[in-house]
Amino acid sequence: MAGLSAAYELLRHGQDVVLADIRRAGQSSWAGAGILCPLLPWDYGESVNRLALGGMQTWPEWAATITEHSKTDPEYWACGMEIGGNTPETGLEWARQHDFPAKITPENRLWLPTVGQVRNPRVIAAMVEAITDLGGKILPGCEITGIRSVGKKAVSVLSGQTEHAADTFIWAGGAWAGLALGQSQPVPNLRPVRGQMLLYAPGSHTLEHILYRDGLYLVPRRDGHLLAGSTTENVGFDTGTTPEILQNLHEAACELLPTLRKCLPVRSWSGLRPGSPDNIPVIDRHPDYDNLWVHAGHFRYGVTMAPASSRLLVEMILGQAPHIDPTPYTWSAAQARSWQAEAAC
Ligand SMILES: Cc1cc2nc3c(=O)[nH]c(=O)nc-3n(C[C@H](O)[C@H](O)[C@H](O)COP(=O)(O)OP(=O)(O)OC[C@H]3O[C@@H](n4cnc5c(N)ncnc54)[C@H](O)[C@@H]3O)c2cc1C
Repeated sequence: MAGLSAAYELLRHGQDVVLADIRRAGQSSWAGAGILCPLLPWDYGESVNRLALGGMQTWPEWAATITEHSKTDPEYWACGMEIGGNTPETGLEWARQHDFPAKITPENRLWLPTVGQVRNPRVIAAMVEAITDLGGKILPGCEITGIRSVGKKAVSVLSGQTEHAADTFIWAGGAWAGLALGQSQPVPNLRPVRGQMLLYAPGSHTLEHILYRDGLYLVPRRDGHLLAGSTTENVGFDTGTTPEILQNLHEAACELLPTLRKCLPVRSWSGLRPGSPDNIPVIDRHPDYDNLWVHAGHFRYGVTMAPASSRLLVEMILGQAPHIDPTPYTWSAAQARSWQAEAAC
């Protein structure tokens, strides 16, 4: 999503773009739930909320303009989100402070009526189509293995024996941005965090909004499918699923929505989030090169943040005034954060 959204924004600003991906574009992004809101926004700092709220505001217009350039419907749906199991007053106060519509339901749950969703595989397909329609070029199956430079200027990126030259480069490698790209320094403190998911067939429920409680969410799709997720696991780059964890997810889903007891999930999968301490991404110039930018580490909310995050990145690349303060997203700020500090919080 970080590469796709940056490419899309640059194209909308009249730039020429080539997007290379070792696999398909948006490899991990397709695995997500597409909820366009942090799960408990009041658990995060303002630097997360600023990008998330900016993304949430922009998504309806973004989805509409992507659709103008593509055949695939990203299935944006302002279905709302209901949050149980916590003190709803905390959420209500956060909503009041951020001018965000919210109320407490008679069942003492927090209802956020404007929260939306997109359907990840479809939003990615739509973005790929839109990028192509706007004149961008996508190179699937293209692994970037290094950077050729003169001093601090990157001249080209290397893919095997092939060189791709450009004026400006963006490293949006998701969880893999925590690894060194050629001789360059890896993005600080970035690591893969696996999430496993279940899918239920249409007919298993009548839910019409996102439901969240105690770490588990249920997301109904417009065609009646239902997603249940997810886990946060530190298992390196392992993208497998595990029967015990899927069974636990299924039981928790049945507890939250008892009609699911009558059915079994029809599919399961996992994806790797680009994990960052405090969920704060890096949107900054790479310290090793003057013309290499980093757009990575959006962790649990890369889809939500995409419009605001790519806007900030493109403003900085094009030398425009940033619409939000970029300080929390700098490389040096990411160096100063640590997972230990997060565990201690
Ligand atoms: C289970 C799960 C549920 C989620 N739910 C939500 C949600 O509801 N809402 C939300 O906002 N977010 C959600 N997320 C998080 C969101 O999906 C991520 O933050 C976002 O997808 C990260 O996008 P990215 O582009 O940084 O990473 P990716 O999508 O992983 O893209 C990085 C790309 O870089 C490519 N790459 C890596 N190295 C190289 C190389 N050397 N050469 C070429 N290409 C390379 C990879 O193949 C990959 O395609 C979820 C994530 C998961 C896993």
